[in-house]
Amino acid sequence: KKIVIVGGVAGGATTAARLRRLDEQAEIIMFERGEYISFANCGLPYYIGGAIAERDALLVQTVESMSEKFNLDIRIQSEVIAINREQKTVTVKHLPTGETYEESYDYLVLSPGASPIKPNIPGIEEASNVFTLRNIPDTDRIKAHVDEKKPKKAVVIGGGFIGVEMVENLWERGIDVTLVEMAKQIMAPVDYEMAAILHQHIKDKGVRLILEDGVAAFEQQGKIVRLQSGTTLEADMVVLAIGVKPENELAKQAGLAIGERGGIQVNECLQTSDPSIYAIGDAIEVIDYINGQPTHIPLAWPANRQGRIVADHINGRNVRYNGTLGTAIAKVFDMTVAATGNNEKTLQRLGIQYEALHIHPNSHASYYPGAFPIALKLLFDRKTGRIFGAQAVGYDGVDKRIDVMATAIKGGMTVFDLPDLELAYAPPYSSAKDPVNMAGYVAT
Ligand code: FAD
Repeated sequence: KKIVIVGGVAGGATTAARLRRLDEQAEIIMFERGEYISFANCGLPYYIGGAIAERDALLVQTVESMSEKFNLDIRIQSEVIAINREQKTVTVKHLPTGETYEESYDYLVLSPGASPIKPNIPGIEEASNVFTLRNIPDTDRIKAHVDEKKPKKAVVIGGGFIGVEMVENLWERGIDVTLVEMAKQIMAPVDYEMAAILHQHIKDKGVRLILEDGVAAFEQQGKIVRLQSGTTLEADMVVLAIGVKPENELAKQAGLAIGERGGIQVNECLQTSDPSIYAIGDAIEVIDYINGQPTHIPLAWPANRQGRIVADHINGRNVRYNGTLGTAIAKVFDMTVAATGNNEKTLQRLGIQYEALHIHPNSHASYYPGAFPIALKLLFDRKTGRIFGAQAVGYDGVDKRIDVMATAIKGGMTVFDLPDLELAYAPPYSSAKDPVNMAGYVAT
């Protein structure tokens, strides 16, 4: 069989590798518009900040290494510009030459990702210091600007994961940073009171935080950012991180079903409305694991998981994608924020009855040095004990607790099971009653 993959990073590369492991004979062609495949998107902010020193470390696989290891036909700088469903071919444009050609497929896998939202803000075209961050060339541009122009003031617009990571990494470079967020809180996956802890922390670091305000215009080639409130900010550079939108043009043009939020619609086996075309990753609409509603959750775990499932399904395995929980984590200077499942905002919006509890147990035994309280929030159904979601903010041990909660949810456990989780304990790591156990005790 012949499988064509569109997109050579998280979802695409995973699919290709798994396909080869399952079938030595299959013909596998992977098209990537850019110059790089399988790079570490998630590491990009840390390379700009300096925590990741070597650019090469971001390049998880090269075309040469991956082609050889998995016997793949990888074509970079090759954009798939049309899907011809009747003929089962794609039209490919080789970008350096502009040449186009057709390639046939038995199965087509779309993993084109999502692109940064860049609204048509007045003055944006003339502003050469406004950046978005998605890939290696974006990273090179931002890093070169920081290294060569030595900006003193930066404005980051958008307080989501990428925005907040960029705030920290520009701050690490000695830049005076202002973070502007349209909502009343940063980090939308957690609820307001959890985000408020982070607001204080980033302000304590000397970052100026402006909430409930958005950018209205860029003036003087982007040297001045004018906000909707009328506030003006000086900026030697601006990072626009206000979200991403699924790259759905190919799918749309091919007449595949697209959801309300722009994600390509797929079934449980990740097939689009055309069963020989699969779609995965940031480009698709997924089902929220908790509430069953369609949503868009652009994260690396789903892209990887889905890539593997698609390869398995193409090879006749009986596999399903069960929906996305949205487990996510970010470092915010010295603190960590993480969440899994639904937050209170979502539950309220959907009219789901829930109980919320907050506890502040120590990250490990209080008598062992370095223990800090973790703000842990649990959302659950009082009657059935079903866990809807959990959120945590703290200095240490946040990742572990949210991962245990995420595991409990997928394992179908209820709050009644949490006290019974027998978790590893010694004073440097936890307490005889772990924070997850404590949440269970308080809930029941
Ligand atoms: P991508 O990895 O974006 O790959 C899509 C590729 O398809 C692109 O390279 C694109 O050039 C190519 N393409 C698109 N259209 C075509 C076409 N027509 N022809 C050929 N090629 C095409 N997630 C986390 O879970 N944790 C994190 O810490 C985290 N940090 C992140 C930090 C940054 C700065 C960014 C940008 C993302 C981060 N993410 C993180 C998100 C994560 O990287 C994505 O969820 C994941 O990469 C999605 O995989 P994908 O395969 O759907 O898309």
